[in-house]
Amino acid sequence: MTAKKFAAAAAALTAALTAFSCGNSSSSSAKDESPRSSTFFAMDTVMTLTAYGDGAEEALADSEALVKELEGKLSATDKNSDIRRINSSSGGAVETSPETALLISKALEYADSTGGALNICLYPVLTAWGFTTGEYRVPTDDELEKLLENTDYRRVSVSGSEVSVPEDYMLDLGALAKGYTSDRIVEEMRDAGVKSAIVSLGGNVQALGLKPDGSKWKVAIRDPFEPETDMCVVEVGEKAVITSGNYERYFTADDGTRYWHIIDGFDGRPADNGIVSATIIGDSGLECDALSTATFVMGWPEVKTFMASRPDLEAVFATDEGEIYYTPGLEGSFKALNGREGKAISYD
Ligand code: AMP
Ligand code: MG
Repeated sequence: MTAKKFAAAAAALTAALTAFSCGNSSSSSAKDESPRSSTFFAMDTVMTLTAYGDGAEEALADSEALVKELEGKLSATDKNSDIRRINSSSGGAVETSPETALLISKALEYADSTGGALNICLYPVLTAWGFTTGEYRVPTDDELEKLLENTDYRRVSVSGSEVSVPEDYMLDLGALAKGYTSDRIVEEMRDAGVKSAIVSLGGNVQALGLKPDGSKWKVAIRDPFEPETDMCVVEVGEKAVITSGNYERYFTADDGTRYWHIIDGFDGRPADNGIVSATIIGDSGLECDALSTATFVMGWPEVKTFMASRPDLEAVFATDEGEIYYTPGLEGSFKALNGREGKAISYD
């Protein structure tokens, strides 16, 4: 991202967060509840953290340091990261930080519970498409078939902080690292005594507490068909609201076909199963991030069966036919924008 693009994205994000986080409280009490924000670039995206009240300033600085520390462990490209060491281990066991091992074992659990829709072994496939290098191309079927031989997540093993993958396997935690990071930021802020905060890590939003005036947060979800605008707003309390969208990273081939960065591990091609945007709302950023990617891959209407089994989560899905569906629990807190309409999912 160029400096100019970064500045524009940062300004837009700050404006959006201010719009939905300041509310309409105009009273000026003695207590300082004004927002403090910091915007920076990490994990390949623009992050904006906003915290209110006592300790906010310090908590923001500590959170930024925490993000950089986690990035150093979890990035697939950072030279000394745990993931990079695993990926160049030629099949040997690698001692990692406890966080990396935890995240990998959690990812394996989500892979199981989503029937393999989440698969952290797709790095070689993502590279073949150019998503890890920016050198975009359409791989041949033969090439994909061969690469898929080394993507069986059940062959990854974690024992304590030791991780082993077979030779030629490469891991990528891109689908869930940001969600884990927002969990950690919220924890850091809570420990610092902050009561009210909202963080946006490239569109992954997570809240601590309620707004200082006691009302809920309004979180906007991008319109996948017009990504400069929003398709809806959801009102939430202390929740993570995490979206996977086909507009986040993609390239357009000479014939006009769009190829995006979320891969269906069954054929090695960008997941094109009827969903173009999947948002999961729940208590854990890590879980919401893992499941936003997984539900995107599952597709519509198959995802309904999965959501019916998880009444503790809410979700919003946009289909490739332009329809928006939300879980019934969001009735009253979902508001469509852009002249769109949303429908509550029916599980019959
Ligand atoms: P997200 O934006 O959270 O949906 O994560 C997308 C990122 O996860 C991609 O940029 C890849 O690094 C990685 N990824 C793509 N497809 C999958 C998949 N099926 N399972 C797990 N990770 C994936
Ligand atoms: Mg995700």
